[in-house]
Amino acid sequence: MRKYIFVIGGVMSSVGKGVVSSSIAYLLQTKGYRTTAVKADPYINVDAGTMNPVEHGEVFVTEDGDETDQDIGNYERFLNQNISRANYMTTGRVYLSVIERERNLEYAGKCVEVVPHIPQEIINRIEKAANASRSEITIVEIGGTVGEYQNILFLEAARMMKMRKPNDVVFVLVSYLPIPSAVGEMKTKPTQYAARTLNGAGIQADFIICRAEKELDLPRREKLATFCAIDKDNAISAPDLKSIYEEPLLFEKQNVGEKILKKLHLKSKKSSSNLSHWTSTVSKIYSAKRNIKIAIVGKYFGTGDFTLADSYISVIESVKIACWHQNINPKFSWINSEQFEKDKQSIQLLREFDGIIVPGGFGSRGIEGIIMTCEYARKNKIPYFGLCYGMQIAVIEFARNVAGLTKANTEEIDPKSPDPVIHIMKEQKEKVLKKDYGGSMRLGAYECKLAKGTKAFEAYQRQTIFERHRHRYEFNNDYRDNFEKHGLVISGVNPQNNLVEIIEIKNHPFFVGVQFHPEFKTRFLSPHPLFSAFIIASSKSSSK
Ligand code: GLN
Repeated sequence: MRKYIFVIGGVMSSVGKGVVSSSIAYLLQTKGYRTTAVKADPYINVDAGTMNPVEHGEVFVTEDGDETDQDIGNYERFLNQNISRANYMTTGRVYLSVIERERNLEYAGKCVEVVPHIPQEIINRIEKAANASRSEITIVEIGGTVGEYQNILFLEAARMMKMRKPNDVVFVLVSYLPIPSAVGEMKTKPTQYAARTLNGAGIQADFIICRAEKELDLPRREKLATFCAIDKDNAISAPDLKSIYEEPLLFEKQNVGEKILKKLHLKSKKSSSNLSHWTSTVSKIYSAKRNIKIAIVGKYFGTGDFTLADSYISVIESVKIACWHQNINPKFSWINSEQFEKDKQSIQLLREFDGIIVPGGFGSRGIEGIIMTCEYARKNKIPYFGLCYGMQIAVIEFARNVAGLTKANTEEIDPKSPDPVIHIMKEQKEKVLKKDYGGSMRLGAYECKLAKGTKAFEAYQRQTIFERHRHRYEFNNDYRDNFEKHGLVISGVNPQNNLVEIIEIKNHPFFVGVQFHPEFKTRFLSPHPLFSAFIIASSKSSSK
């Protein structure tokens, strides 16, 4: 059995299609169905890896090494499921495979056209993703907003699927209903236009998720029913929530899961949805009494908080989720490391924080300031968690200030450094020389063996772990003995190629750097063990 739910945005972008898709997929899971979620992104880029995260948001990396959109992270956190590369497509990917197939004569000399060949390729990919995960109900989120040119072929694919299998396809329009302050009333007209524009693409919405500042009331529900040709009970109220994780509960209250199942000619397999674990975790978000202050230090581009939150969404969600499970409330501060380079005394401001995170990054800007941050955290025993670049920079700091290699650096910044403690491996060097940048980093999950008696082992409570990578440079093993003599702990190593994956500093409440990105493996119901360990250490430092 394969059923499909298309989630399409109306009126404007950023209405929360990703959270709606994740919430619906999760709710249907609690009703006993195997579900998965697919993202169709309208841009020509083949993957998200080469896009600027400040413009596009985080690049999320899947277990099987795909560089995808941040929505895939929401799917994983909500569904507690690894989403594979089969579940992500862009217009670029779709066209690339059609053109490649044409060059291989796989269309047997036929004229290959935008319609039907492109939508057919989209349908093939959706069905392939559903089959690969043996999903009974597949949620397909179409990027962009109805009415724009970019996503029209995805809508055409959705229309074709509905035409072929009328009982197996449902359409959900996620729309925005403004409440202009001068009017003081929620307006449905933009949504009416969106529903009608969708009609123009041959699609009739079955449900409208009404995103707004407030609850949807009866008069507006009736208006939407009349003008958008939906059942009035299928206009779903979706007011702003304090936390996105409340959305499945809000939908359950309105019976969204049952209503969708009915449209798909299905019934719940469970007598009642088991949302108790989810509900109790959500309640912790509001009951947390203690605050801890976390500094995120990096190079930032003078962008606003919104942009930053999007570029590092998995890191932030990982900290929040780890905190909530400990009944703690995190307070974030974004700190531009360049300020420490300009005013050396300003490093003292880090004293206020209970924990410091240096997330992943690229290039030389602000790096000396991050080295100062590592030194400060190491000497003042402030819990430090370095993610990827944050680990590499911690190694440089250790090399310079503990092992006495004053010119130590990463080859990414100084290819001529006499002590390249972080270096590029041969196969990566060849890729860079050939300008082969797309999807060519060390990507996806790799094995790591943990050493007993270390912070890492204590956190995971097991010896073998798999974590996701996205980088070109590595710890240089030529320095391993020297650093260990000076007290650096190598707590995780990849057994296949002997690469150092985790470093720690002795006699410190928590100083851990990881070459991978643990933030990609957090789930709402199960925080990542290293984030939990970091939060526990930070909360102890805050109570001192
Ligand atoms: N720039 C570093 C590398 O390529 C780290 C990358 C990252 O933090 N994701 O190795």
